Amino acid sequence: MEAFDPDREEVVARAFGAGLEAILCPADLTVGRSLEIILDLRLRPPRILAAAGVHPHQARLFDPDCRARLHALAAERRIAAVGEIGLDFHYHFSEAADQRLAFRTQLGIAKDLGLPVIVHSRNAGVEILEAVSEAGLTRGGVLHCFSETWEIAGKALDLGFTISFSGILTFPGAANLRDVARKVPAGRLLVETDSPYLAPVPFRGKVRRNEPAWVAETAKVLAGLRNESLEELAAVTTGNFKTLFSV
Ligand SMILES: [Zn+2]
Repeated sequence: MEAFDPDREEVVARAFGAGLEAILCPADLTVGRSLEIILDLRLRPPRILAAAGVHPHQARLFDPDCRARLHALAAERRIAAVGEIGLDFHYHFSEAADQRLAFRTQLGIAKDLGLPVIVHSRNAGVEILEAVSEAGLTRGGVLHCFSETWEIAGKALDLGFTISFSGILTFPGAANLRDVARKVPAGRLLVETDSPYLAPVPFRGKVRRNEPAWVAETAKVLAGLRNESLEELAAVTTGNFKTLFSV
């Protein structure tokens, strides 16, 4: 995203300096140089993986060209997942009908390509899970930046999905979400930043953007909730990442 144009190299260096082993970075096929930048970062050690898709905010721009580009990226083994895809009935930046078409079409593409999906869900959990269930994915996926109820989490787990927690987990008002995070089975947990958004406590409110290095703060809170050491939790989430994205 443009927020990182001035110092992307330093941000990446700080992330790996903070102990991250791998990063998955999704590009939106309809947004500027997003894909180009990520495909360049992709070759960077220790490991940055790329995903691509059309976000529900941009769903009105999803067209046959996007479909063809996704197929080409997968054939060339340049993407590890299809995403972010999904439904966002909070912001409604694209019409619901366009969102549904883009989401269901990209679920079908992920199935055909044998790739996992990264799903963005906002006020749309029930419908998302219906669509995922009907798609019959072969590689499952992740509900990213999870902020919904245990009922939705449980149904996603039944469908083989992984649940990813962002800085929201550290927010004072997120007690319900912390309850969900205690209950998710270890084999289905991930952590993420959603940067430049959602800076975790203690950075929340003090910085203009979030960055990947700070996923450690979210991981610390998650480890505490589950009575695990940070090292134990990191081993779990790193293992889950490698399994889900075939590292
Ligand atoms: Zn998202």
